[in-house]
Amino acid sequence: MLASSPMLNLRLVRLLWATLISYGLLAAPLAHAAPHPEPINIVVTIPVLKDLTEQVGGRHVRVTSLLSGYENEHTYSPKPSDLVAVRKARLLYEIGIGLEVWVSSLVKNAGSASLRVVTTSKGIALLRDRPNREGELHAAEEEEQGNPHIWMDPENATTMMRHITEALIQVDPAHATEYRSNQASYLRKLDQLRGDLSDRIRRLADRRFIAHHPAWPYFARRFGFQIVGTIQPQSGSEPSALHLHGLIATIKKDRIKVVVSEIQLSQKIPEMLAKETGARVVVLTTLPGGLPHTETYLDMLRYNVLQLANALDAA
Ligand SMILES: [Zn+2]
Repeated sequence: MLASSPMLNLRLVRLLWATLISYGLLAAPLAHAAPHPEPINIVVTIPVLKDLTEQVGGRHVRVTSLLSGYENEHTYSPKPSDLVAVRKARLLYEIGIGLEVWVSSLVKNAGSASLRVVTTSKGIALLRDRPNREGELHAAEEEEQGNPHIWMDPENATTMMRHITEALIQVDPAHATEYRSNQASYLRKLDQLRGDLSDRIRRLADRRFIAHHPAWPYFARRFGFQIVGTIQPQSGSEPSALHLHGLIATIKKDRIKVVVSEIQLSQKIPEMLAKETGARVVVLTTLPGGLPHTETYLDMLRYNVLQLANALDAA
């Protein structure tokens, strides 16, 4: 009796199974078990691209940003884990315009035949950095290429997002409608915020500031601010004593009230300028996640405009 029971159990299970299937009771669980595709692995160079990609791709993408938001994008050196991430990725989104000087060797070393590199700055009208006053050497190709900090203007972010969406659709056409609709709803939010921020700064009497590194011309142009001097005349290089003397003279003569520092850079020189001239330092971020309340691109934009406006008002 005991010995025969496993066989009996098996027959009972088979009978039960057949009954369930014939009544259609198993249909729902079977549908659930249908293979759910793995998210698409995407690597981006800087956090703004991660946010924009996740806004479009939602649950269909798994995005790794090489920079986390605290590093300097001009002097970054890739980690071994970055190479692993690039090897696994189908898409790599970059800014281009010579911003990520470190990315091409990373892609080459990864040697992945299925990886597609997408330059999200394509089609954007670039601003050129003006040669600084004391005529220091300026890399010729950099001057020809223009300033790479395009994402600081929400209008440019719109173009970047279009590149992101189109590349994603090429890799995963099955979700094209979803990607396009995510893009449209995000761009509506971006437009709304842009309008709100423009309202906030409309009545500002003084819109002039000293920038830390040349990251702000697109931002200044979009929101009507005026950059009267830059601490680092060239991205990633420290200023000379002569350049700093010139800045101090400008701040005093033109009564400049605000120095914009950046959390990714040293606070020493902005603080020295404030001490010498009485100007106020406001610390902003060029990368989402660099400061509290700047986790997303929209948060960063709001934070930078409102903090700068408040500093200009208070000065
Ligand atoms: Zn920069």
